[in-house]
Amino acid sequence: MKNLGYYNGKTGLIEEVTVPITDRAFYFGDGVYDAVMCRNNIPYLLSEHINRLYHNCALLSINVPKTKEELAYLITQMCTRVDGEEKFVYFHVSRGSGIRNHEFSDTKGNLCIMIKPQKIDPVDEKMELCTTKDVRYSMCNIKTLNLLPSVLAAQHAKNNKCQETVFVRDGYVTECSHSNISILKDKKLITAPADCHILPGVTRAHLIESAKKNGIEVIEEKYTPSDMLRADEIIVTSSSKMARGVSKIDGKSVGGKDKTTLDILTNDIYSDYISATTPNSYTLSRMQ
Ligand code: PLP
Repeated sequence: MKNLGYYNGKTGLIEEVTVPITDRAFYFGDGVYDAVMCRNNIPYLLSEHINRLYHNCALLSINVPKTKEELAYLITQMCTRVDGEEKFVYFHVSRGSGIRNHEFSDTKGNLCIMIKPQKIDPVDEKMELCTTKDVRYSMCNIKTLNLLPSVLAAQHAKNNKCQETVFVRDGYVTECSHSNISILKDKKLITAPADCHILPGVTRAHLIESAKKNGIEVIEEKYTPSDMLRADEIIVTSSSKMARGVSKIDGKSVGGKDKTTLDILTNDIYSDYISATTPNSYTLSRMQ
């Protein structure tokens, strides 16, 4: 199939699956989502993303209508029905359904899944970024459906012929509209702390792991836009981009001063994706 949608047990083309207007996701954005890349019908790091979804749902008292194993199985099966080698898998759980009321009761969550073919952009192609004020609220650590500031920031990037927008809050860089951002300075990786102002990205965690493995010191501390402009390299991470260097921010040339370390980290992230999604190397343990 060219794509596949799922809503509470019903499947079909994404354009054809419908959601009732009583779903709290529709009028409150009352839900949590996650997303993974899939290659060769192997969803990459699925268990980490499912764990984050469950953790986020628990923080908001949202009931996930399936066990982690059932969800992993469903997503993996659905991937096999969609054309293409590489796919993007989106899944969300809303709090449930009812007539619109802010207060909620202990309802069963609604599960929605969308899978479409999508290739990862070449990871050695550097990105151009722009900046904007971070006007989001203080629950950015939870991957909720409330994404209006991120939607506007992503459009801001597009309007400026950039690939991402960097958020700046109270004089410090937090993250981007739908990715994390870190800098390299003097062979050290500096990344904003995983507090309530950033999403603790799965790819960011892998970047940190890769840095430590390669003997690169990791500093989880706030840094400013001028630190970013003066950095040796800048690295944007997300599940659909992996790890990418940056060539320009707000039209100014940046980075380009530590290609060796940048290459080590970006290649490490990408090669793990390739090896984990190459059928023979796949082990069921990744799913648990
Ligand atoms: N930060 C935000 C705001 C995001 O929306 C995303 C991904 O969607 C990320 C960071 C990157 O997270 P991950 O690496 O888990 O995809």
